[in-house]
Amino acid sequence: MTYQINWDMDSVFPGGSSSSALRKKMDSLVNKKTAYEEAVHNWNWTEDKPDYIKLAEILKMQEELSNGLSESMTFTRGLLSADVTDKKAAVLTNELGELASELNSVNTVVTKKLVAMPDNEWDELLKKEPFKAVSFVLTEQREQGNELLSEKEEALINALSNDGFRGWGDHYNSLVATVTIPFQEKDGSITHLSAGQAQNQMESHPDTNVRHQVLKDWEEAWSEKTSLFADTLNRLAGFRLANYKAHGVEDYLKRPLEYNRMKKETLDTMWDTITANKGMVKDYLDRKAKLLGLDKLSWSDVEAPLSVGDYTARTYSYDEAARFILENFKKFSGEMASLAETAFEERWIEAEDRPGKRPGGYCANLPESGQSRIFMTFSGSTNEVSTLAHELGHAFHSHVMRDLPVLNRRYAMNVAETASTFAEMLISDATVREASDKAEKINLLDSKISRAATMFMNIHARFLFETRFYEERKKGLVSDERLNELMLDAQKEAYKESLNVYHPTFWASKLHFYNTGVPFYNFPYTFGFLFSLGIYARSLEEGKAFEEKYIALLRDTASMTTEELAQKHLGVDLTKPDFWQAAIDTIQTDIQQFMELTEEYI
Ligand SMILES: [Zn+2]
Repeated sequence: MTYQINWDMDSVFPGGSSSSALRKKMDSLVNKKTAYEEAVHNWNWTEDKPDYIKLAEILKMQEELSNGLSESMTFTRGLLSADVTDKKAAVLTNELGELASELNSVNTVVTKKLVAMPDNEWDELLKKEPFKAVSFVLTEQREQGNELLSEKEEALINALSNDGFRGWGDHYNSLVATVTIPFQEKDGSITHLSAGQAQNQMESHPDTNVRHQVLKDWEEAWSEKTSLFADTLNRLAGFRLANYKAHGVEDYLKRPLEYNRMKKETLDTMWDTITANKGMVKDYLDRKAKLLGLDKLSWSDVEAPLSVGDYTARTYSYDEAARFILENFKKFSGEMASLAETAFEERWIEAEDRPGKRPGGYCANLPESGQSRIFMTFSGSTNEVSTLAHELGHAFHSHVMRDLPVLNRRYAMNVAETASTFAEMLISDATVREASDKAEKINLLDSKISRAATMFMNIHARFLFETRFYEERKKGLVSDERLNELMLDAQKEAYKESLNVYHPTFWASKLHFYNTGVPFYNFPYTFGFLFSLGIYARSLEEGKAFEEKYIALLRDTASMTTEELAQKHLGVDLTKPDFWQAAIDTIQTDIQQFMELTEEYI
């Protein structure tokens, strides 16, 4: 069997970005939006004449619009990813984005009307279908809607946030575009790299000296502009705090926790359990330093590739990768393997290594076709086999949820990576097991453990910094010197002083701090990683019998709190350390193996 390395987009809408079928679809979405808007404005709940039927219709319209938008958006964004010069696809994507934002405003009106319903009527409503099936999400929407100000005030805040909030996020990108980092080429000449290019060299150049030099120049380049970045960061946080206050919210962690449907207690327990286990990560970092011939690692060495001895890294053809993934998925779940097989056979995947594609990878849903599309660039490395598995994990998550109402399919960021990380673990563990060469095994284990180290140390530093920054920002502007200080302290604490060079201007160089979509855009990564690892640990214990439970858990990821999800499907209390410890133990096993294997190389 030979699988094709390019995806099939014609079966979604024939004709690429000039597709007349897509045009027709988009026009029909605009019409549907108008009808939806009208229905929403005409719908009023009165106690003497409760109108369940109209509300059910409104939800149905919402569902159709949402599905149609996702289907079209996956298509146009996909075209643009596969050919960054496709201007028509860019225009269409933008048009769809505007439609989605208009739709959001109408949804807010629905929320306001739900809030206005008397409590007893509300309770009656949730006993009836189709509302009962989505009662968690509707209740959440109503409770959060309770904090909304008047329609007029919300509209005003939204209008002001274009320039007063989101504009600062865009300004950050403009500032980053002016940052260049000098870089010495092999022939001795100096070129100037963009931030993105320099970051690649700094984190993955095989020569330690080069990495260290780039980090030095990198730190200097950001230092020159810290006053501009400090302005930006202060205004973003200031707007957020003022907006929270207007809604009666004093605690800056309230919204981020709400978004992730989790308790503060859970977050605290997660970080505490990680902190209690940092000794072993420190041992690993110390060993990696020795293997690189260093006293201690620098900030730029943590994720650097590690090679001991002589070996040629194994490479996979696309077909070999597919077979390897199918074989190993099958060992855990027949359904997962069969979905992956469909994805390969029906060409859901664009993986060709060619110019003109955007970097990175993702998986996007086609709810109307009941399919997904995966975008990535595959050039044969073991890492890319894991990435392919990761994206197939996302596709599987969508697959098991495909028959649920759209409201029950919108999972939060902290559980969004559950299925993907799980699939990735299945495959990366298999590649380590199958590595015939000791040096290769060390290299693979290292890349696995260094990722965990990033989750435990780097992301912890971001969290410590951000909470302390918000605390100080409540009292006034925070200077760039102070931001450097806060960051350096956070890094030293999070890394348990295991590095000898840190990155004090990380608060300026890291895009995540400037994300206007989601506040505290960091801890959900660590949460998701460990949550998935904990589930993976359970699957190792229970074997194939776990498949059914796993699928049931995935189906529930968007219809209950994270604590309820873990309690219902795993029987664990996330506010207690046991689950987190079991997840961390799987990394401990890897570290032990790494320590034994590398003994002879130090
Ligand atoms: Zn992912």
